[in-house]
Amino acid sequence: MSLPDRIVIATHNAKKAKEMVTILSGTFPTIEFSTLEEFPGAPESEETGETYQENAAIKAESACKFTGLWSLADDAGLEIDALPGELGVHSKRFAGEDTSFKEKMRLILLWMSGIPTEKRSARFQCTIALARPNEKTVFFDATCEGRIAEKPSGKGGFGYDPIFWLDERDCTMADLTAEQKHEISHRGKVLREFSKWLSKQS
Ligand code: IMP
Repeated sequence: MSLPDRIVIATHNAKKAKEMVTILSGTFPTIEFSTLEEFPGAPESEETGETYQENAAIKAESACKFTGLWSLADDAGLEIDALPGELGVHSKRFAGEDTSFKEKMRLILLWMSGIPTEKRSARFQCTIALARPNEKTVFFDATCEGRIAEKPSGKGGFGYDPIFWLDERDCTMADLTAEQKHEISHRGKVLREFSKWLSKQS
């Protein structure tokens, strides 16, 4: 199978799309990575699945159907061991989709107040799906382990990054530069797995 000239990054989250395009275009300079912004009218698909795989597949397959091109989508979530079932695959809708991240993080920190460091373990989970015309969708998964910080810190990244503490870096995910985040993040890891797979297809 030959590599395509163009792959669509099927997300309406501009910051997430930028992370994905930056990581992938460095590895595959001959492939044009386009975001859904370049396809006016592309539907915003509902994340109605109960698993990361289902949601990633819904987004990738809908974009593939609309554009006729290979389409890559991810679904991610924050899992907090002390708050089982609260976020995870429902992280985006946690406390309401229109609630700001500042407010969501305030609520999480409130619920976590008094919980000692060793019980604040958490992880970002990420699955990506690649949908291709007339082919079976393929999946890749990765996690990034950390814990919930005592207070938000940092201006980088997006979403829950300011409260995701990384012991090995002694800072939050949002304190890292974009390059440092890619080295260790769930999305960086999963895209490296995808890149290995894609390299073998040519
Ligand atoms: P989705 O994959 O866009 O559905 O993301 C689920 C939720 O997790 C959203 O609220 C995202 O903002 C959040 N999220 C996904 N990836 C990251 C990340 O890399 N850092 C912080 N939050 C994230």
